[in-house]
Amino acid sequence: MSGHELDSAALGKVGMMRQKQPDMYVMRLKAVAGDLTADQLACVAVVARKYGRGFVHLSTRQGIEIHYVHKDNLETARLELLEAGIEMGACGPRVRVIVACPGDDSCRWGNIDTKKIARELDARYFKQEAPSKFKLAVTGCSHNCTKANENDIGIRGAIEPKWEASDCNDCGLCVSLCPLHSISRVDSDEGFSYEIDWESCINCSICTSLCPSGSWAIGRIGYTLFIGGTMGKIPRLASVLKQLVETEEELYLLIDKAFGYYCANGRKKERFGHMIDRIGLDTVKEAILGTE
Ligand code: SF4
Ligand code: SF4
Ligand code: SF4
Repeated sequence: MSGHELDSAALGKVGMMRQKQPDMYVMRLKAVAGDLTADQLACVAVVARKYGRGFVHLSTRQGIEIHYVHKDNLETARLELLEAGIEMGACGPRVRVIVACPGDDSCRWGNIDTKKIARELDARYFKQEAPSKFKLAVTGCSHNCTKANENDIGIRGAIEPKWEASDCNDCGLCVSLCPLHSISRVDSDEGFSYEIDWESCINCSICTSLCPSGSWAIGRIGYTLFIGGTMGKIPRLASVLKQLVETEEELYLLIDKAFGYYCANGRKKERFGHMIDRIGLDTVKEAILGTE
């Protein structure tokens, strides 16, 4: 690359962005699910000292960026990083690095293996061309630490609770703890029961986690799948495509259909969510879910 006019679009594909300062570039590194090893971090530090200005910038999407790399050093720096197994990220109209929280690997709230899903999505989609930038995030539970619904595709761990009458001590705690007020106590001739309004329940796992007698058991476990979230100039929170996807196989199938639909119908530079608003959520959902 040295000595010649650089092609910004081509560099964007490999995660290198031109700075405002002449001949200076940002190197955006790839860290799927925000993970790098200690050895890789040591390599980043060496490269940042050698070719940058001795610091890194942490992006809002779990990325590490090395700033102030002269254009003549980009390729050498890239190869040094690659030797430590660190690839470059992506910019421009394509799938970006997949973001994920720790999930059930180490977080006590985690319902799903977020990192495994992130790695799988990375293998399937990273850098694939799209009408506009395309972001995916995986979050292990309803605490939503990776903000799944701010992404073009968001996956959130979900639990469907099931009430087990025999253990319930009728303390009423679940009624007050449910953030959506979806649980109510119902009296009948047979006694009492606790019931859920499934229209409002978001499968958040608060009841299954906090019931003191374990009466809210895990009925089904799976993934809530969101589509069309974006921040930026025209923010839009994602819409629920399916509240509870039960298998990984179905999850990937639906993501594939959603991404395919966007690539086929999105206009140049139009984000997925804005395409959904133009076409209509019901139409898009029907197209993606219709042939399930
Ligand atoms: S979203 Fe849930 S599982 Fe993920 S880090 Fe936050 S609390 Fe833990
Ligand atoms: S919190 Fe558990 S024990 Fe208490 S009323 Fe609800 S289900 Fe029953
Ligand atoms: S899963 Fe969450 S939203 Fe649904 S009933 Fe339990 S506490 Fe309420």
